Amino acid sequence: MFIGPTADVIRLMGDKVSAKAAMKRAGVPTVPGSDGAIDEDNERTLAAARTIGYPVIIKAAAGGGGRGMRVVHSEAALLNSVYVTQSEAKAAFGDGTVYLEKFLENPRHVEIQVLADGQGNAVHLGDRDCSLQRRHQKVLEEAPAPGIPEEVRRAVAESCVKACIDIGYRGAGTFEFLYENGSFFFIEMNTRVQVEHPVTEMITSFDIVREQILVASGRPLSVKQEDIRFRGHSFEARINAEDPRTFAPCPGTVRRFHAPGGPGVRVDSHLYSGYTVPPNYDSLIGKVITWGEDRERALLRMRMALDEIVVDGIRTNIPLHQQLVRDEAFMRGGVNIHYLEKKLKS
Ligand code: ADP
Repeated sequence: MFIGPTADVIRLMGDKVSAKAAMKRAGVPTVPGSDGAIDEDNERTLAAARTIGYPVIIKAAAGGGGRGMRVVHSEAALLNSVYVTQSEAKAAFGDGTVYLEKFLENPRHVEIQVLADGQGNAVHLGDRDCSLQRRHQKVLEEAPAPGIPEEVRRAVAESCVKACIDIGYRGAGTFEFLYENGSFFFIEMNTRVQVEHPVTEMITSFDIVREQILVASGRPLSVKQEDIRFRGHSFEARINAEDPRTFAPCPGTVRRFHAPGGPGVRVDSHLYSGYTVPPNYDSLIGKVITWGEDRERALLRMRMALDEIVVDGIRTNIPLHQQLVRDEAFMRGGVNIHYLEKKLKS
């Protein structure tokens, strides 16, 4: 059984240019941009960037995993950067299509989880904040996103539900947004279950994977929006087999593995003592997820869980997480997508 969106939706959402256009049509707020791919007409490209206003970001339509993006600060650098990004995208993704977007200087990454059955029913499961990133890769996530006015939160989530119905979406999905100065701007939709889905499961007590399988088998959604109840706060620390300072991948044999436990602590991992982390894949080896009645208690549990976990024999980013959960700005909540990289440089 194929557990994913229908062929029509894959066509529609398969590349970022058509996804963004579809979302704009459905009334989801998007980042100002070139409204379509860049073509051969250099004058048009320059004019588009002028209208958007510098800095702009050139993005590959087929890009993913934080690759295929380039920020441009002045007109003088635009055309050459477009050319380089097109060539890189062609080499990396087999598709050189690129488009322009306003580069937001200090946004947060906030995303909305949805579930839809392609039969006219869709719900949202609230939002997540994934602003702690390194090289556009998420490191530590939480739900709900702290400090967002309730009416803004509700309006953006409802626009996502409406978009799911408009495009006939089926499956679990995530609408990714940048959030800056109180406004949401759609950047892309992930038509799958994401690494960070457990934080949403923790605050809704809802099994996203089970529901995804049910709707893929043709069943209508088992819940209505009013059945979804939000409770408490949740964090997820992505545990990677990598050097905590240089971030070089660190495969090898795990001599000793001990998972943290207790109320409100969940560990999703395939690790065991004696397991060998192969060098061939992504370095993600586990996820530590905590829940608490409020943000402070969820964070406290995360601190204890990170002190308790043992992964001996290989280097991991656990020391980095131990620092992050004690970081004052992170503890206050609402740091932007550049915060972690700036902190790592200082
Ligand atoms: P990918 O599919 O590679 O993850 P996204 O479009 O989701 O690409 O962008 C990944 C990250 O890149 C975002 O979380 C954000 O940090 C940064 N980014 C993307 N678009 C913009 C933009 N218009 N302005 C500023 N940062 C951006």
